Amino acid sequence: MTKKEYVKHLLDDTLGLPLDSLVQDYIPGELVDLVSQAVTEGFPMETDPIVERALSRFDEELERAELEQKGYSIRKMRWPRGASHAVCLTHDVDNVGHPRSHLWRTRSRFGFLDLVLGLTGLRSPYDNVQMITEREKEKGVRSTFFFLSGNYDLNAFAEKSTWMTRNGFEIGLHGDFGTHSSMDAMLSAKLRLESSLNIRVEGVREHYLKFEFPITWEIADEAGFGYDATVGQPDKLCYKVGLCSPFHPPSATWRPLNLLELPLTVMDTTLWGYLKLGEPEGFEAVMSMFDAVTRFKGLFVLLWHQEAIKMRGGRIYWRIVDELLRRGGYLDTASGIAGWWRSRGFPLKAEGGIVRPIAKPPQGLVMRVKLSQGARLESRNCSVEERSEFLLVSPLGDEFEIKVI
Ligand SMILES: [Zn+2]
Repeated sequence: MTKKEYVKHLLDDTLGLPLDSLVQDYIPGELVDLVSQAVTEGFPMETDPIVERALSRFDEELERAELEQKGYSIRKMRWPRGASHAVCLTHDVDNVGHPRSHLWRTRSRFGFLDLVLGLTGLRSPYDNVQMITEREKEKGVRSTFFFLSGNYDLNAFAEKSTWMTRNGFEIGLHGDFGTHSSMDAMLSAKLRLESSLNIRVEGVREHYLKFEFPITWEIADEAGFGYDATVGQPDKLCYKVGLCSPFHPPSATWRPLNLLELPLTVMDTTLWGYLKLGEPEGFEAVMSMFDAVTRFKGLFVLLWHQEAIKMRGGRIYWRIVDELLRRGGYLDTASGIAGWWRSRGFPLKAEGGIVRPIAKPPQGLVMRVKLSQGARLESRNCSVEERSEFLLVSPLGDEFEIKVI
């Protein structure tokens, strides 16, 4: 595949276009350059999702041209039931315990009760998987936990992991050192985690966000993962690939991988460890990253280390969750989000004003249809909702048809 073909594939998928509605030669050279730079080098200093911005500008132009030439435009909306944005909560499990001497040395991080319970050995302030899942369940949210495969005794989590997966939580692999650049290391880490917990994992995030273009993606893809959630910059609040929506990364030869990347938006340790923010500023920083994501109807991926949830800084997690819930949107585990995005990629055929699916559409799909003046829409097996500038069309089953006359 060529670079340009890859970029067309990414545009079709990200913008939710019907088959053949985008002609490759219509894509401006600067957009091809921008997208290809994003997925081969990234923009480690970029505080604005610049690729997303460029794509949405391009989409507006494309839509104008479609309305002029064909009399209508149609887009698959990004999220189930037309939700305005998506939220994914994740927890890396780096450690579940530290020696008491470490706790004593870092005692100023903790509240009095947690410190006493920790020092007396009654309850470790670093092992919060149980508490987080219970509290998240009470709030009606589900998250993804990425476990290291060789840093602590996984047998201690065997029972807990069964409860977690039964209750809608997800367990993924937190890639140990070396897994980002070695297929052997990746396969043995995956096997260690899967056999210890008797589960199948679908996704991976590398420890310390270790990542190399394109080898880390190729390894994750070949190891059989459905998604990776590594791509983010540890020391800055930025959009490392300029995108805040899932995408299929390219192989070294520009082939779109089966793997989906769910780009990371904010990591907790960036706020405290690198930027040395206080709690109010940390909260504001998280919400301003969230606001930028929602401007592009994107995916907000939060990484909050489970061992830090009782610490100064880390304890604002629950305030963030409450605020995210107040803002609405579609919230799911990383595998839930990847699964949705994959099924949203079903082919939609638009020919001579007739739009039909040529594979099963996902449940919850909504399409946004714009009509030029004088055009009218007829549909079969769809519900149609009129908005001021467009129509929202939701299929009522696997077979449907939209006709523009
Ligand atoms: Zn880690």
